[in-house]
Amino acid sequence: MTRYIFITGGVVSSLGKGLAASAIGALLQARGYSVRLAKMDPYLNVDPGTMSPFQHGEVFVTDDGAETDLDLGHYERFTGRSANKNDSISAGRIFLNVLQRERRGDYLGATIQVIPHVTDEIKTFIREKDGSADFVLVEIGGTVGDIESLPFLEAIRQFGNEVGEERALFIHVTLLPYIGAAGELKTKPTQHSVKELLSVGIRPRILLCRADREIPADECRKIALFCNVAPEDVIPALDVKSIYEVPLSYSREGLDTRIMHYFKLPEKKADLGRWEGILQRVYHPESHVKIAIVGKYTELADSYKSLNEALIHGGIANNASVELKFIESEVFEKESDAIHQLQDVNGILVPGGFGVRGTEGMIKAVEFARERKIPFYGICFGMQMAVIEGVRNLCGIKDANSTEFGPCKEPVVGLMTEWVKGNEKESRDANTDLGGTMRLGAYIAHLKKGSRVAQAYGATEISERHRHRYEVNTAYKDRLEAKGMVFSGMSPDGRLPEIVEYPDHPWFVGVQYHPELKSKPFDPHPLFVSFIKAALDQSRLV
Ligand code: GLN
Repeated sequence: MTRYIFITGGVVSSLGKGLAASAIGALLQARGYSVRLAKMDPYLNVDPGTMSPFQHGEVFVTDDGAETDLDLGHYERFTGRSANKNDSISAGRIFLNVLQRERRGDYLGATIQVIPHVTDEIKTFIREKDGSADFVLVEIGGTVGDIESLPFLEAIRQFGNEVGEERALFIHVTLLPYIGAAGELKTKPTQHSVKELLSVGIRPRILLCRADREIPADECRKIALFCNVAPEDVIPALDVKSIYEVPLSYSREGLDTRIMHYFKLPEKKADLGRWEGILQRVYHPESHVKIAIVGKYTELADSYKSLNEALIHGGIANNASVELKFIESEVFEKESDAIHQLQDVNGILVPGGFGVRGTEGMIKAVEFARERKIPFYGICFGMQMAVIEGVRNLCGIKDANSTEFGPCKEPVVGLMTEWVKGNEKESRDANTDLGGTMRLGAYIAHLKKGSRVAQAYGATEISERHRHRYEVNTAYKDRLEAKGMVFSGMSPDGRLPEIVEYPDHPWFVGVQYHPELKSKPFDPHPLFVSFIKAALDQSRLV
């Protein structure tokens, strides 16, 4: 029997509901249950694929090619279960489905309304997960009280009624702000947001209270009294230094025991050894490396969420802490001596990106890493920049560029119009819709035997997730290989370059895909492990 846990958030956004859901998932797994996590987002974009990373953080891509919310990345990192396109939905997608059906005539004769048509569509999304796991955890994006959230709240209210209390639990994440002048944590915003939920017919049974300091027992009792929950169900969720402490911290506060109690399941002990081991390494590293991330969305930490985590995972595997130095690549274009900022780092990483802004700066960073023999890791856009740098500076073709930035004489990176997925051909042209039409999701690559990447993976066939529209042009391959760059990974048909490397460099690898999406704290991605190891070796040299 599948049980459902719905996670809502109140008071403010960015409370870490995604992490909360992920940690609850991990705790249930630690008690031997299978879990599946899903996210419902109230915005009207059909998916986050067309949103700027500045708006909504990273776009997380699943194996089956869905462009989803970054919380799905947390779900995968904490539970190890791969998400798919049915694990994330937005209000835009729900409305689109309903309206397409209306146009087809599926509801012929009916007046289409939020209740029941939109809410039914939302319930279908939830119900189709029945039977797929012991627990299905559904996170509702946004903040309770937002106009956009209402259809979702109404749908989960109905759903809770339909399956009954013994199969549905509502957990509400709130904030207790600290008011310095009063020297107190305040409970009023929590009371109000619970009242808001009660007014739409949802009774949260467990409150996860975010706070930046210890919550006095009296305040917990007060919250319980005013919010109509048992005092044991007011769970302090205090700030922790590492996100990987969250499952342990919730467990210490009794959250998983209370969930078991609610569902009347045996309150046996959870096995949290896996998380204790990770935390031991995170909090007691033996060495330290500094990695520069030279990109264009460096102001918002969430833009490179999975990347930041994958680097930490590489550190965990090497018993090292990883310090990230974010550098806006444009500075290398504007200030001639800015490149010195790269002098004290042990590794340079150019991540994914779109559009021309900052690309000349990225190319300068690649050149610096290549010439100074600093470990370099180029991801997607970063690989494209690395290839352009090689063609310009090693092959002497100064006009080398990507057609993403406009027509160019030497299109080293060009628009991809046709490629093979499994046994099928996918094609696009320059006028195709921009949403959901990139080369998306898992593709196989064949690796050259004996290459650095084949050694790191310990395999010559890999599957990795993609999200890009442009591709390295093989017309320049021979000239680059003559200068020492090896195309060590190719698509199975040999047409699309997937990986490049310089074997005579301590560590220089560019990949067309996004390896960071598959890294987990307990299963760090081999290329991140290898990159951080190279950076550690470099740090011992200086
Ligand atoms: N803008 C590049 C492309 O579309 C790279 C995309 C990326 O880095 N994800 O091919």
